[in-house]
Amino acid sequence: MQKTLKKIEDKLYFVPFKPNTESHIKTNAAICAGCTGKECTKFCPANVFHWSEIDKKLYINYENCLECGACTIGCPYQAIEYSHPTASFGRM
Ligand code: SF4
Ligand code: SF4
Repeated sequence: MQKTLKKIEDKLYFVPFKPNTESHIKTNAAICAGCTGKECTKFCPANVFHWSEIDKKLYINYENCLECGACTIGCPYQAIEYSHPTASFGRM
């Protein structure tokens, strides 16, 4: 009998996860609006930062953060305020 392999999405469906509604990453909207390079959208390995040309706003998908620490040194304007994620959230 052939065994069917489960896809990663199917496996993750059963992983208990408690999301935090408070972002541990904050940015300065005024500085980001004037930033020409939007470097954060390039150096973050988890694609946490997304610049919307329509809204002229930086969106932060903080739930995807890998806690690599790159954004604490990567923003040329020091516009990112990073704090360690609060305990008791994430994978249970
Ligand atoms: S966080 Fe830094 S790199 Fe990203 S848009 Fe704002 S100022 Fe630019
Ligand atoms: S800590 Fe790393 S993964 Fe998290 S937002 Fe910063 S650059 Fe992205």
